[in-house]
Amino acid sequence: MDSVELLPDAVWRQSFRRQLLRWFRRNARDLPWRQTKDPYAVWVSEIMLQQTQVLTAKSYFVRFLQRFPDIATLAASSEQEVLRYWEGLGYYRRGRSLHQAAQRMMAEFEGKFPRDPQAVQKLPGIGRYTAGAILSIAFDDRLPILETNSIRLLSRLLAYQGDTTRSVGQKLLWTFSEQLLPRRNAGSFNQALMEVGSCVCTPKSPACSNCPVRKLCRARSQKLQEVIPVVKQKTQYEDLHEAAVVIWRGQKVLLRRCTTGERWEGLWDFPRCEISAQKEHLLRKEIEKKVRKLTGFTIHVGDSLATIRHGVTRFRIKLECYEAGVLGSSRSRVSLQQKWIPVTTLEDYPLSVTGRKISRLITES
Ligand code: SF4
Repeated sequence: MDSVELLPDAVWRQSFRRQLLRWFRRNARDLPWRQTKDPYAVWVSEIMLQQTQVLTAKSYFVRFLQRFPDIATLAASSEQEVLRYWEGLGYYRRGRSLHQAAQRMMAEFEGKFPRDPQAVQKLPGIGRYTAGAILSIAFDDRLPILETNSIRLLSRLLAYQGDTTRSVGQKLLWTFSEQLLPRRNAGSFNQALMEVGSCVCTPKSPACSNCPVRKLCRARSQKLQEVIPVVKQKTQYEDLHEAAVVIWRGQKVLLRRCTTGERWEGLWDFPRCEISAQKEHLLRKEIEKKVRKLTGFTIHVGDSLATIRHGVTRFRIKLECYEAGVLGSSRSRVSLQQKWIPVTTLEDYPLSVTGRKISRLITES
């Protein structure tokens, strides 16, 4: 069957809208970004939710809006401060894009959030899904959405067994999402899709018996809900062994700003490098050599501070943290990208999660 032939008729769609919206009126979670239709606040929440769980995003959202209540304030702030408020959320490109997009809105849209979906999609960090979500929620514009939760829900409703990441699957689901939209209340409808996808139609063991649209669901009637959507090949994880060094000079430590292409671009970090030596004395030599290349400082690696295990995207990282002293420098490397920072001011700098852990280790001792 041609995939487009899977799309249900108008009677089905009408019934679906009614049941979904009724369920949403009774079951919508009370989330801070649902108390407003300000497009700026909706935009911030959508960007935060792109790769962050709702529970985590809640507190960050409130704090971010308190400090940057509108487009003008965000645009006028420094990237460093924005990243400081983003710290811990990960995927820092999102924070930088928010900041850049706010500056574009000041320059090109008189500080207002644009209404034209094409213009919105040209802003940094905003694709078709995010533009549709913001404009439908803030203005009730009749624009479809498609993200992880709605992809799962919609493909189960259709019992679609193709790959949802391929263009055929994407085209089918975007068309379905568009056809489903009601004439009014597009914002509530889109949120309801995501809410059922996230709270009821969960990846594993979906709660079909409590699902408001169970009678319309083809995957359920064909007992396929556990195998749809068809899972892509699992992520291949890669193990990495790294070292981070707290280099002391009096009461100050050396921080460097991660440059373009580095994992934490725009954030500050303790000098960090990949390591391969197995024996402790060789490991220290390797770190000293790599840190000299990275920073220009000749160091002596001292005590071990901690070993931190963490994951970043597809990498599983074992991070060895050391303290070190400076023996000399090949050239002056203190610049805009590298500074000696009094430990008491570390809180002012945006750091990665592990960078912050290290900073707490040294400030608390
Ligand atoms: Fe998902 Fe089950 Fe509802 Fe179908 S019936 S949409 S599989 S929760």
